[in-house]
Amino acid sequence: MMNSPTCFAPVDRPDCPECARAREDANHAIYLATCLGCATRAIAITPEAWRALNASDPDPLRQAILRTFGEPGYLEARRRVWEWYQTIQRLRRQEAPTA
Ligand SMILES: [Zn+2]
Repeated sequence: MMNSPTCFAPVDRPDCPECARAREDANHAIYLATCLGCATRAIAITPEAWRALNASDPDPLRQAILRTFGEPGYLEARRRVWEWYQTIQRLRRQEAPTA
């Protein structure tokens, strides 16, 4: 099992301080390797995520998620990537000048 990515899969950390800051700052760029939220947030800001959601090209994102989480964690990780993508987009809209 040494080559299984799930050996190193991050775990849910609801108290993660970096995720808490990232929910208020779209540009927050500190990630804890052991945190599922941080790991999925890191994937949510990649070009692969953008292409999956905006250019109907889901395979690169799928491969990125599988590299980190493996098949067992894929669906939960994909759900969280989508949540982070929406959160970051919402924050960026709020930060954008309105006039
Ligand atoms: Zn985190």
